[in-house]
Amino acid sequence: MRIMIAEDHPVTRRLLQAQLTKWGYEVVSCSDGTEAWKVMSGEDAPRIAILDWMMPEMTGPVLCKRIRESEPDQRYAYIILLTAKDSREDILAGLEAGADDYVVKPFDSSELKVRVRAGARIVELHERLTEALRASEYQATHDALTRLWNREAVLRFLEKELTRAEREKTTVGVIIGDIDRFKSINDQYGHLAGDSVLRHVADKLASSVRGYDSVARYGGEEFIVVLPNSNAKAAFRVAERARSEIAAHPARTREGTFHVTMSFGVAVSQPYIPTDVDSIIRAADKALYRAKNEGRNRVVLAEEESQWKPSEESRPEKSSATSDRGSQMVA
Ligand code: GH3
Ligand code: MG
Ligand code: MG
Ligand code: MG
Repeated sequence: MRIMIAEDHPVTRRLLQAQLTKWGYEVVSCSDGTEAWKVMSGEDAPRIAILDWMMPEMTGPVLCKRIRESEPDQRYAYIILLTAKDSREDILAGLEAGADDYVVKPFDSSELKVRVRAGARIVELHERLTEALRASEYQATHDALTRLWNREAVLRFLEKELTRAEREKTTVGVIIGDIDRFKSINDQYGHLAGDSVLRHVADKLASSVRGYDSVARYGGEEFIVVLPNSNAKAAFRVAERARSEIAAHPARTREGTFHVTMSFGVAVSQPYIPTDVDSIIRAADKALYRAKNEGRNRVVLAEEESQWKPSEESRPEKSSATSDRGSQMVA
């Protein structure tokens, strides 16, 4: 583990450096507060700092306070103040500035050793907790199979984007895609084959969108893309690109090579009219069902007039939908 020491007195600094190195730490030494601040505010800063109280440019407590103020949640430096001061008020002031511990000079080497070790334990514990938190946040927001966003995360994103679009008078696009005849892959080749196809499709979708679009697994073999600041034409184009990519590139899996196609429904919010999550999803879903009924492997754009009405009628029947081309665009 790396430790930074900031000490202006050369003999004490060398002594500290020699001791810490002997105990197995990698040491970065500084001789004044400004130099120490540069090290602690830089990329990959040491996780333990031993700061002298009295130093040129910046005292230990001032430096300590500055480190604390700039520290992101995911990073914690364990700070030990080194001081000739041992009055109660001084020690309190040091701890108040954010120090974790203090050692009074002239320091006793075995005492310093156990205090540094205690610091190293805390830093390691903090790292493990941060990692566990990061992992659980990832799990809560991602789909384990495809590593895409999950349904909850994408719906939150959509809600936020719809609110922003309303404020900024822009529009949001939503694409819902469903793999065609997916059940037959599972039935004939097993669930593992099905899972590999889902991963393949997820990769193709992710690579078909722009960086600020959000792709998620909506459930089963359904996927959703949220396109901030997108109009109908642009959203349609993205869906069409994904459709043709998937149709053109079979999934090569351990269980075999599978040619799959996908159907898509596209809906776009209307400028100047507040749109809620449910109605835009319903509109995209309805368009998707038309794509299925009209032969699959295609993209259908929701009809503007009908997409904002609460859907009392159920999804279109196969027979009636084929004749109703509405605003469908087929590339
Ligand atoms: P359509 O073209 O009408 O969409 O036909 P389909 O066969 O794709 O539709 P259906 O809804 O009948 O089947 C979806 C299948 O997706 C059923 C289910 O077994 C499968 N499925 C859902 N989630 C998973 C999964 O995580 N892994 C695998 N392997 N299969 C899944
Ligand atoms: Mg000093
Ligand atoms: Mg399907
Ligand atoms: Mg489905």
